[in-house]
Amino acid sequence: MSFFSRRNGTLHVEDLSLSEIAARFGTPAYVYSRAALTAAFNAYKNALTGRDALVCYAVKANSNLAILNVFARLGAGFDIVSGGELARVIAAGGDPGKVVFSGVGKSAAEMRAALEAGILCFNVESAAELEQLDEIAASIGKKAPVSLRVNPNVDPKTHPYISTGLKSNKFGVAFEDARTLYRRAAALPNIEVHGLDCHIGSQLLDPAPAAEAAEKILGLADELAADGIHLSHLDFGGGMGIQYSDETVPSASEYLAAILKLTAGRKEKLLFEPGRSLVGNAGVLLTKVEVLKPGSEKNFAIIDAAMNDLMRPALYDAFHDIVAVTDGKAQPQCWEVVGPVCESGDFLGHARKLAIETGDLLAIMSTGAYGMTMSSNYNTRPRAIEVLVDGAHAHVVRRRESVSELFALESVLPG
Ligand SMILES: *Cc1c(COP(=O)(O)O)cnc(C)c1O
Repeated sequence: MSFFSRRNGTLHVEDLSLSEIAARFGTPAYVYSRAALTAAFNAYKNALTGRDALVCYAVKANSNLAILNVFARLGAGFDIVSGGELARVIAAGGDPGKVVFSGVGKSAAEMRAALEAGILCFNVESAAELEQLDEIAASIGKKAPVSLRVNPNVDPKTHPYISTGLKSNKFGVAFEDARTLYRRAAALPNIEVHGLDCHIGSQLLDPAPAAEAAEKILGLADELAADGIHLSHLDFGGGMGIQYSDETVPSASEYLAAILKLTAGRKEKLLFEPGRSLVGNAGVLLTKVEVLKPGSEKNFAIIDAAMNDLMRPALYDAFHDIVAVTDGKAQPQCWEVVGPVCESGDFLGHARKLAIETGDLLAIMSTGAYGMTMSSNYNTRPRAIEVLVDGAHAHVVRRRESVSELFALESVLPG
């Protein structure tokens, strides 16, 4: 099911053509489909029917308030990694009581804010964090609900930069140390042990590593029960992959099947933290061809979006499909699709066969996740406008920045 379809030779988002969106709002623009967001969330919800479960959307994938609000209305919880993300969730109408707080370096101020807001759980990633959280909770007269994020040492078979569950990663507590640390947690006066958490990586296409991690987590939960530590929830993290080109991608129910089987009959609530799989395929980056520069070795198509708008190709060598919005008359040719930023790494796609002319619109597909949230103002480029399409209506959910706003917080030396 695609919410992006070609009608009369023009790519549409739901019932609106991308050419109309470009004419109304300009480019570059991130364009999202509400129906696609809803369908992705409901795929999890349906897969979890009949189970006591909570889907906590990983805010870092796309933290626009309108997107958080769409998920909040569908009943989502949220996985946050900063105090800033907590503030966003609350501003978007999310329930702090459904928030889990992940991350290896939570500051004292962030811990305090999350305790005051009454979040569901801290996913604690080290012994030092546990002790600090206990002290901070004591200082404000609260109990901190915690899970330990355990590193199951499973190879997720994904890109090394987005693999997080191996021993060599900075994330989580070593599996062997978890039991001891749980005993310590249980003994701390201002800590309440609630759960057990893991997250092994991102863009996972094979359900087997997630199932292997789940098996280890369940084994550990049983050992903890033998120690008298009874958990109220098990958090299996996020990481389910999406289709960027021709990968075979499991559906949410296929991805979760093994975990659901392993946990059948257990009392703990099940938590999941999907990010990419809820938003990735729900967004495109709409851009215009500024300059065509054919050459003897390579042809360059310079577009008005760049690595500052979409960092994934430059950062991970990630592939995003790039398509012409309108079927044109030009001869198809092979193009290096690059931005105007002064870096050789500023590319959006290599060797793409496209029939394009100057001024044509392109859509960079599957950019709803880790697109806008990783964007920057490098080269003093205002960030893209964000538009959320709902049927035939387009809502501006983040206006385009002006250049003066980019240096509004700066000042020169006096005198
Ligand atoms: C990034 C992250 C997620 C979401 O990962 P996706 O691959 O986008 O699903 C979930 N949990 C934690 C702890 C994360 O760091």
